[in-house]
Amino acid sequence: MTACRRTTALLLAGMALLGTACDRNGDGNGQPALNVYSARHYQSDDALYEAFTRATGIEVHRIEAGEDELMERIRQEGAASPADVLITVDAGRLWRADQAGLFQPVESQLLRERIPASLRHPDGHWFGYATRARLIFYDRQRIDPAGLADYEDLTDPRWKGELCIRSGNHVYNLSLMASLIAHHGLERAEEWARGVVANFAREPQGGDTDQIKAVAAGECGIAVGNSYYFARLLNSDDPDERAVADKVGWIFPNQDDRGTHVNVSGAGLLANAPNPSAGLAFLEFLASDEAQVRFAQASNEYPVVADAPLENSALEQLGAFHRDELGVSAYGEQQAEAQKALDRAGWK
Ligand code: FE
Repeated sequence: MTACRRTTALLLAGMALLGTACDRNGDGNGQPALNVYSARHYQSDDALYEAFTRATGIEVHRIEAGEDELMERIRQEGAASPADVLITVDAGRLWRADQAGLFQPVESQLLRERIPASLRHPDGHWFGYATRARLIFYDRQRIDPAGLADYEDLTDPRWKGELCIRSGNHVYNLSLMASLIAHHGLERAEEWARGVVANFAREPQGGDTDQIKAVAAGECGIAVGNSYYFARLLNSDDPDERAVADKVGWIFPNQDDRGTHVNVSGAGLLANAPNPSAGLAFLEFLASDEAQVRFAQASNEYPVVADAPLENSALEQLGAFHRDELGVSAYGEQQAEAQKALDRAGWK
């Protein structure tokens, strides 16, 4: 620990003696501040940061940018980085950040108790704070969903020319593929990917919302996408968006066996955090009941803490489901294999 770090830690431990030239994140009056780099762009997150400041007296400075951009920035800033905490989405990306050495391990009994083991890094390098499920969507008018219950059913030749799903280079599909490799082994997972490609309605294009809209427009009978995109349509103020949602049915895959593939929005304490104590306080705050509801609510995701209320009518409408308990850190470990397998399968 450097002298600066020690100063900051002492300061936060309540020994407010040392105002300090070396408190890189201070407000100039010796008050600690926390710098958060966030890939989330929700106004409602402001209320979350304000609540943290009220609870701890620690002011929050937030820098928002795209996920990959933030990681690159932290890498380039190196030891001089002012960032304490990184918030981003998808365990596959959290894993990439960790592989790049951006995080430091956090030991927190509170986080171990409140966040299920499958939704955090085994050694505390990052923690999942909200989950999203990867769902199957279908055209209510044209598709009879009988026999369409699992990810594995997407390869049924009955669905030839019906399936819309985004690029095989995108981390959401890499994470889904990684989970299939973890469950079935590489060979069967790759066979699955070939079956999916054989059923494509079109070359992959656009994001998850585009796939859902393409179902509503009749371009594809079946799509795959994350739950929050659909919840956003259901909760939309725009009648056209709600009309899209009305035409589309949803399936939580694999409810009769291992459960639906989920991913996380998560955060970790950065290796070069100037204020690690403030960073830890923030990570623990995000697991509080109050923060859980707000954090998940802002993005139409599910809280990770057991019994945290949903307070989201779209998610209530989607209903309860059982999630795959495979540790989400497996998505990162299998990511390179997943990419190679999807490339071999011709999933562009
Ligand atoms: Fe997304």
